[in-house]
Amino acid sequence: MSPRHILILGGTTEARELAAALTAHPDVRVTTSLAGRVSRPGAVEGDLRVGGFGGAEGLADWLCAEHVDTVVDATHPFAQSITANTARAAQATGVPAVVLRRPGWRPGPEDRWHEVASLDDAAALLPSLGHRVLLTTGRLGLAAFAQLTDLHFVARSVEPPEPPMPPHIEVLLARGPFTVADETALLREHRIDVLVTKDSGGAATSPKLTAARRLTLPVVVVRRPPLPEGVDTVPDVAGVLARLGLLAP
Ligand code: NAP
Repeated sequence: MSPRHILILGGTTEARELAAALTAHPDVRVTTSLAGRVSRPGAVEGDLRVGGFGGAEGLADWLCAEHVDTVVDATHPFAQSITANTARAAQATGVPAVVLRRPGWRPGPEDRWHEVASLDDAAALLPSLGHRVLLTTGRLGLAAFAQLTDLHFVARSVEPPEPPMPPHIEVLLARGPFTVADETALLREHRIDVLVTKDSGGAATSPKLTAARRLTLPVVVVRRPPLPEGVDTVPDVAGVLARLGLLAP
């Protein structure tokens, strides 16, 4: 019997962990798909393919051509298009889909969070909160802040951002995980008075929230886009393995 073929749509820590967990099963073939945005992605166990599929139709064709048995959408909570495409391709082909979404962050009583629906809303709110901003929203979202000419930005991203971006900006290229001590030092060194983040969730980048809490800084948190209706969602790798019937007894 040919092995079950699982396609993981990746780009997250959990996707890598899932690929490693699945390759341990001899009757499973794993392919991870990456968008190709990052120039040096970490090593992935199993097969790897890189680049877009060509929308939901292209993905549906790929699922059929490669005899995929289950597709796991383990993309980032803010990767909205690929998640919508996966739901449509799964519906069109009948290939079961599972969405692996790590839980979002929740504020504690000492946090000074301002939750907003979009980067544009974050930009509109910023001038009322501070003047020296740490932006951790990714290199593709800087255009939303380009009109804020009176504020000073420190933008941290994995890959160099491209214009448009605000005029007063320092770019820091770095990839998590980060520690609370590092994040506290960064906020102090740059005299940051407000932090902007997406609600990515997960432990790798949450120390910035702890550091901001300790320094009593306001944090603008961009809420996640909604998931397509009716998708089967699990919060972690164990949840996917359970769905696939592959959890150790
Ligand atoms: P997106 O807006 O949802 O996707 C845009 C297009 O990129 C999709 O329509 C698809 O092209 C292609 N694509 C996205 N993920 C893909 C994957 N895993 N494999 C093959 N093609 C993929 O996604 P995004 O926000 O640009 O994110 C791109 C990748 O970076 C994702 O894999 C995501 O997990 C990762 N990432 C995103 C963020 C973020 O904040 N958005 C943060 C960290 C990591 P086609 O339509 O041609 O198939």
